[in-house]
Amino acid sequence: MNTFDILISEVGPRDGLQSVNATMGTADKLLWINALAAAGLREIEVGSFVPARLLPQMADVAEVVRHALTLPGITVMALAPNLRGAEAAFAAGVHKVTLPVSASAAHSLANVRKTREAMVEEVRAVVHLRDEQAPGKRVEVGLSTAFGCTLQGAVPEDEVIWLAAQCAAAGVDEVGLSDTTGMANPAQVRRLFTRLRAELGDKAGAAHMHNTRGLGLANCLAAYDVGVRTFDASMGGLGGCPYAPGASGNVVTEDLVFMFEAMGLRTGVDINRLLQARQPLADGLPGEPLYGMTPQAGLPKGWEQPPPLR
Ligand code: ZN
Repeated sequence: MNTFDILISEVGPRDGLQSVNATMGTADKLLWINALAAAGLREIEVGSFVPARLLPQMADVAEVVRHALTLPGITVMALAPNLRGAEAAFAAGVHKVTLPVSASAAHSLANVRKTREAMVEEVRAVVHLRDEQAPGKRVEVGLSTAFGCTLQGAVPEDEVIWLAAQCAAAGVDEVGLSDTTGMANPAQVRRLFTRLRAELGDKAGAAHMHNTRGLGLANCLAAYDVGVRTFDASMGGLGGCPYAPGASGNVVTEDLVFMFEAMGLRTGVDINRLLQARQPLADGLPGEPLYGMTPQAGLPKGWEQPPPLR
């Protein structure tokens, strides 16, 4: 991560766009992604390799990847739910594939119709494919519903850590924890990421927090306090999970960047240009609500961000 303190991974073009009913046009997506990159975001999850009949919002993902690959300095990431999706993602040229693995047994069956053990086998197959056909590309797992599940309720912490260890043993580069359903609280975040880091060392990955109950920033700060340095966030707080009813809104990128920069931590993101990047998002999704407290309130009087590191 060289000179930066924090890596913000922008997941709006995937987690956000797949969760809204409208489909953003390809040209609008590309303009938005250009603006995100121009703001200094260094990692962007640009889409999901799922069949277009399941998620028409992602039908153009290969084209979006091809475009994002032309932007200098950007790690282009895409989600793949299975081996077939990962194959398509590697073929499109992504730098990094992220695989969702449900920590909750019930969510796993509902979301991908597989047990968690079967998903670990799928992860192993993706790592094998990477080693054979796309060496140098990165594979990460995001453990969804790691902090609670709308179907089964609590998810035992021992099971989360057990599953993370299984995924690491299957050969992935990183395992992160996702609060898919917005049920996490800061004490739980501290406990689970502390255990994750103890178990996985430098394979412990990102915090992916949702703001469903208003605790997104508090949970990110709790994760930061126990050593997490990569955070997923979504511009305007778009996003959620179709299998987690009521779960809406990733932590807002604009607010997260403001929090860290105000603390004196360097994200590499130019907050003024980040706020400007809301315009192409709004243009591409007319009528869709965009969230964020910093965008509403503006920057505090006299507050200036130090010049961005480039
Ligand atoms: Zn999410």
